[in-house]
Amino acid sequence: MSKPRLTIDLGALVANWRALDALSARETGAVVKADAYCLGLAPVASALARAGVRQFFVALAHEGAALRDVIRAGPDILVFGGHMAGDTRLIRDHDLTPMLNSAEQMVRHMESLPGHSFGIQLDTGMNRLGMEPGEWAALRDIALAQKPVLIMSHLACSNEPDHAMNSRQLRIFREMTDGIDVPRSLAATGGVLMGREFHFDLTRPGIGLYGGRPFDQAQPVITLDLPVIQTRDVAAGETVGYGNTWTAPRPSRIATVAAGYGDGLHGALASGLMLYAGDTPCPVVGRVSMDLITADVTGLAEMPDHLRVLGARQGIGTLADLAGTIDYEILTALGHRYERIHTT
Ligand SMILES: *Cc1c(COP(=O)(O)O)cnc(C)c1O
Repeated sequence: MSKPRLTIDLGALVANWRALDALSARETGAVVKADAYCLGLAPVASALARAGVRQFFVALAHEGAALRDVIRAGPDILVFGGHMAGDTRLIRDHDLTPMLNSAEQMVRHMESLPGHSFGIQLDTGMNRLGMEPGEWAALRDIALAQKPVLIMSHLACSNEPDHAMNSRQLRIFREMTDGIDVPRSLAATGGVLMGREFHFDLTRPGIGLYGGRPFDQAQPVITLDLPVIQTRDVAAGETVGYGNTWTAPRPSRIATVAAGYGDGLHGALASGLMLYAGDTPCPVVGRVSMDLITADVTGLAEMPDHLRVLGARQGIGTLADLAGTIDYEILTALGHRYERIHTT
């Protein structure tokens, strides 16, 4: 197979969910928005449902509809974006639970789907989604009379446990919800790791399931192997790639592999990135092209068919640091040109 190969270890994914579930005070859901952080909604959600996940979260109703076709009846599918104009049929036909974010969404939901399940999203300071304290104070009696299934909010700084924002948001969430007899959720991956006072009734990890920080104990979930298209010898003084950014300091052997920034391997990775032949790191040289990367394989006794760019030796955290971004963005940038193989 000449395509780059993205392997997703569903066993590791499930082990990560179980580990986060063991840390969580009560129930543990799973966030599978953006095609399960680009790792494949159907196989990821099926594996998690088999492992016991009862609450799945997605960003938008159309993602929820696709998910419902995969997991069928049973687990709840909760939509962070709430009930947006034009989503009513999707929400009804696929039994989705919108997390209502505003008075406008609440009116839309009550009028178009009276009696249909919903939750409430509150803004405790992130200023991104959810009802603000004043709005909630005005609406809460009406909302509670309709029996929401969940009240949630989201932490802005949970990847920094010592950030003062965490306790501030916790306090505001409690002020807005204490005494209400509805299940509550505040913690994503970072919140799970911060301890039980953040867990309430349901946690909703995403990135930790997929092997990303801040869940440092996570098992790596993905490996990415790039087929070698060609190798060549270059003399000392010859250059490699666009812009002549690398000049061979000595006679060198160069391998060209089939992936590039068009596959989510950012141009910024070029300096410091390794391609692994087994345990041997081969430094990337020259610029990353749209579909190609070149590496110095001079030291290799034998040339493998594939070189590994993501795996146990060089994980998504390393790539994120090299590219000056976050683990989430490395995953979601991977795109859809890879052959995806899901193993158990
Ligand atoms: C993406 C998201 C999550 C999951 O966050 P992770 O940091 O990936 O665990 C949870 N809640 C909301 C509202 C989100 O947008």
